[in-house]
Amino acid sequence: MQTKEILYELRQKHGLSQDALAEKVFVTRQAVSRWETGETVPNTETLKLLSKLFDVSINTLLGAPRQLICQCCGMPLEDSIISREPDGSMNEQYCKWCYADGQYMYSNLDDLIDVCVKHMANETFSEDAARAYLRRTLPQLDYWKRYQELGDNGKFDAFKEKLIGEINALGIDGMPKVEKLNALVGSFVNLPYRLPNGETVRFLDDHTTYLGNQLPCAFDESRCFGVLANMDFILICTYEADGKDPELILYKKR
Ligand SMILES: [Zn+2]
Repeated sequence: MQTKEILYELRQKHGLSQDALAEKVFVTRQAVSRWETGETVPNTETLKLLSKLFDVSINTLLGAPRQLICQCCGMPLEDSIISREPDGSMNEQYCKWCYADGQYMYSNLDDLIDVCVKHMANETFSEDAARAYLRRTLPQLDYWKRYQELGDNGKFDAFKEKLIGEINALGIDGMPKVEKLNALVGSFVNLPYRLPNGETVRFLDDHTTYLGNQLPCAFDESRCFGVLANMDFILICTYEADGKDPELILYKKR
């Protein structure tokens, strides 16, 4: 099916008039009409809104031009198993087992292979064969390529340990010791901090993966500590649930 037919069917299924749909995704009725005649397709931002509204992937809205593959475990992605961002929108890069609540579930290729081998092995495909296959193919996927950029062969784990040591040595008042750092997507943790002049500033790149964690705040139950770091910096902030009212505590170049 083409985008025009898909959009028409979804609109009908949800019992929306062209006007009602236009209002929900902030376009004119004429724009909706042009999509349905096939004159135009929605732009990227509108596709995101439509994806959220209809609860289908952008890939599906576009007529499934690509077979989506989880970029961590290699599983083919259907809409029902695509991962979600904390705001409910789909993250079409990953399956819901590899990425959930804004967090990547695997920081170690061997852990992932152990899990996958159990599902893949059968009478004709031995565990050893499955393991060899995964060891050859998974490092080609985006997620593991990016992990390798940070350093191979245990260097990455050593780097994480070093960062954890540096963060704990800062002795931030009211913050428990950091014991683990997870890979976090920039767009999820890029909070807007308020400056004294009333303006806000964001420090991170939405498309970069950082290491970080969230910790309880010892003296204020309504707030959490957020820790973020990479090769270049350590950032510590506090915020309320869902990242509301963020306050920058420390930004330190490494
Ligand atoms: Zn996956």
